[in-house]
Amino acid sequence: MNMIEIQENAELFDRNTFHVAAKARYFVEISDIDSVNEFLASDLAAGNSLFILGGGSNVLFTGDFDGVILHPAIKGIDLVSEGVDHVVVRAGAGENWDDFVDYCVRNNWGGIENLSLIPGTTGASPVQNIGAYGVEVMDFIDTVEGLYIKERKPFKLKAKDCRFSYRNSIFKTELKGNVIITRVSYRLRKKPLFNTRYPDLEKELNNYDETTVANIRKAIITIRTNKLPDPAEQGNAGSFFKNPVVTKAQSESLKPFYPTMPEYNMKDGSVKLSAAWLIDQCGWKGRSCGKAATHKKQPLIIINRGGASGKEIYDCAQKIQKSVMNHFAIRLEMEVNIV
Ligand SMILES: Cc1cc2nc3c(=O)[nH]c(=O)nc-3n(C[C@H](O)[C@H](O)[C@H](O)COP(=O)(O)OP(=O)(O)OC[C@H]3O[C@@H](n4cnc5c(N)ncnc54)[C@H](O)[C@@H]3O)c2cc1C
Repeated sequence: MNMIEIQENAELFDRNTFHVAAKARYFVEISDIDSVNEFLASDLAAGNSLFILGGGSNVLFTGDFDGVILHPAIKGIDLVSEGVDHVVVRAGAGENWDDFVDYCVRNNWGGIENLSLIPGTTGASPVQNIGAYGVEVMDFIDTVEGLYIKERKPFKLKAKDCRFSYRNSIFKTELKGNVIITRVSYRLRKKPLFNTRYPDLEKELNNYDETTVANIRKAIITIRTNKLPDPAEQGNAGSFFKNPVVTKAQSESLKPFYPTMPEYNMKDGSVKLSAAWLIDQCGWKGRSCGKAATHKKQPLIIINRGGASGKEIYDCAQKIQKSVMNHFAIRLEMEVNIV
């Protein structure tokens, strides 16, 4: 079996959940770690700009990509170690994230069940430190393995060295553009500690006799299916913007004008605001913007109404950013990776 597959002039329409049309000069799919190294040593890698693409559920292509799109399709899940109350389990970067969560839940290994149904690959899970329903993957990552692109050297980073924070990591900052993550290990609990504080989740769990990792997964799937647009029907990449984190003084100054403004006090004294609420206040819920629009239930999600170009979606995002800036003097940061 060929471990490196190269396609020229490849269509990316089905490889991004926004379903925007774009072409890559080369699309390279690699299914084992040794071949990643081999490919990095090739003229094709040396002579072209490189972008790593997982499931394409957090990227927006604003045009064709005149270089190599590298897709790590490395598979395999293995048990690295097992203790009395925990396991360390490792997944190839190309494993589908939700299939991996399902595998862990079936084994009754707890921790990541709240992250059920997030699209994409395990390899991308550390990049923006995926999170949902009160849980962030950084609390369950043990080690991230991969290769530095320029140096062509392997790396193995422990979670404490990944500089994880809210939707951020070393892979989105210092190491951006210079790493291929090949495998990620997660430390999960054999005696689960449930995280059910999130109000929607607490409410949904009332429909189940007991709280188990399997029932939390089911509840999360129900909530997400009812609330979020399915990218297969309406192209989108989930939340387009991050929730802004402001100083206490900044949030205090807004409070008299917006007494109902949701806010969440962070451990370091800063305050996280709701990007969805800010966008909604600017009149953007369910509003069209050419062939793009904000979702009618969740304005943080920009959807492709059909046939929108990446540029059109990007322009829409910029208009939203401008509205929020004019209204609240807060700059919304894009969560989606613009290519
Ligand atoms: C409907 C919907 C709901 C979503 N809900 C959530 C949510 O609740 N919480 C959340 O956090 N996110 C959410 N997302 C965003 C997205 O699912 C996650 O960011 C996911 O981790 C992206 O995985 P991916 O494989 O598709 O990555 P891609 O979109 O392909 O890539 C994302 C970034 O990671 C880099 N990357 C990917 N793989 C690798 C690798 N192996 N090595 C190095 N770099 C790599 C890429 O270069 C890019 O910069 C949602 C998206 C959608 C469409």
